[in-house]
Amino acid sequence: MSKDSPPTAPVVGFVSLGCPKNLVDSEVMMGLVDRAGARLTSRPEEAEIIVVNTCSFIDAAKQESVDAILEMARLKSEGRARKLIVAGCLVERYRDEIRKWIPEVDAVVGTGELESILEAAGIEAPKTVSPFTILSGTPAGRAEGEQRERQGRFRRDAWEGAARELPAYLYDEQTPRVLSTPRASAYIKISEGCDHPCSFCVIPNLRGKFRSRRFESVVAEAEALVAKGVREITLIGQDTTCYGEDLGLKDGLAALLDRLAGIEQLRWLRFLYAYPNRITGRLLETMARHEKICRYLDLPLQHASSEVLKRMKRGGGSEIFLKTLEKVRAAVPGIALRTSFIAGFPGESLRDFELLEEFIAEAKFDWLGVFGYSDEEGSEAHGLEGKLPKRTIEARRRRMMKLQQEISRRAKQTWVGRELLVLVEGESEETPLLWEGRTEFHAPEIDGKLYINDFGERERLEAGRFYRAQITESHDYDVVARILAGPL
Ligand code: SF4
Repeated sequence: MSKDSPPTAPVVGFVSLGCPKNLVDSEVMMGLVDRAGARLTSRPEEAEIIVVNTCSFIDAAKQESVDAILEMARLKSEGRARKLIVAGCLVERYRDEIRKWIPEVDAVVGTGELESILEAAGIEAPKTVSPFTILSGTPAGRAEGEQRERQGRFRRDAWEGAARELPAYLYDEQTPRVLSTPRASAYIKISEGCDHPCSFCVIPNLRGKFRSRRFESVVAEAEALVAKGVREITLIGQDTTCYGEDLGLKDGLAALLDRLAGIEQLRWLRFLYAYPNRITGRLLETMARHEKICRYLDLPLQHASSEVLKRMKRGGGSEIFLKTLEKVRAAVPGIALRTSFIAGFPGESLRDFELLEEFIAEAKFDWLGVFGYSDEEGSEAHGLEGKLPKRTIEARRRRMMKLQQEISRRAKQTWVGRELLVLVEGESEETPLLWEGRTEFHAPEIDGKLYINDFGERERLEAGRFYRAQITESHDYDVVARILAGPL
């Protein structure tokens, strides 16, 4: 097709960056263009319209997004693409600048205006579909969000060129979605936005106030996904443990898990991410009661020194956190715990840092991520005194990772000999001699790898099916397994 003749069914390629929440936004936009008759491609060089869905959580993510936009702009000037659209968090922050500095960009789509992807792409909406305004069914919000708004939590004054309106959009079960995850596995976004005041974080300014999907909407989506062959569902939100508070639900996440665990053909159900002081007895009891709910908890703690946590506006400290972890491990024996920390927050003294290291050594997380502090304009921490040099931040980050490497190596040694249920994902990207899979203790994409080097008597494995496997080797973060039985 020539660049001059307007196509009737344009080919659209998506590049999705950042977290699973952004991936779901990409899947919704893909669903919208697919329903409008466009063809989707996973190869941007084949696309006539390229959409880059960006992340701008921290500096490194922004840089990755800008690099991807520039790479796609190059494709546009050299290849067959005739339109470049930038979507996502970067747009919420630099809406005008993107157009100004990268003239190849034809349109921008913020996180709160996903349905405008059709207009941006110049694709006509199907006539049989109801207007998009009724898609979200977004509830009014909750008192905490209103109060934070009055306190200036969501202000974007420091961001010249950002849109004034906070995003309020949230998809629902009626919204078309094209899954980009392996067939057996899917994310469901159960809430959007965040009302917490964490002083380093600009996500609330980018994504808006906390709002939950309706309970029945999530259930309907989960049932539809399972009917299509999905066997693992991962519920996501900035803080899933707040789910339903704006709907007047008490222990909404526990109630939702309870209900979803009743879907017959669903095998695994998990949720990301939990806020430390919102882990209720009922939530843990629900996790323990259902075999389908993976024994896995991602609990971002950010730090362990109560002084630093106070400045982060999060509260808590190592003693409280250790008690929480003890409670979680007692209620759900064998649970895998993941957390993430920020190294080098403004004012982090050597003693604060050592406290954090002592905490890591004692808490013994199964999985751990460390971000070096990124000084984000528009965050409260941006105005704090005591910023540390970049090299100190990086040195502390590395020291923490080194410590965790040793903890993880020892923990993975105890896996050897264990028999576990494994969801086989397919051939390893590293070598066709190995396949990869995950146990209930590995969330999609994020944790260490499980390699399969022995298929038993089978010639091949089926991706997307469950097998019983035995762990035969362990490394720092990864393990190797052989298949014993299945597909199951
Ligand atoms: S809870 Fe998470 S998303 Fe919300 S403000 Fe804190 S760090 Fe940011």
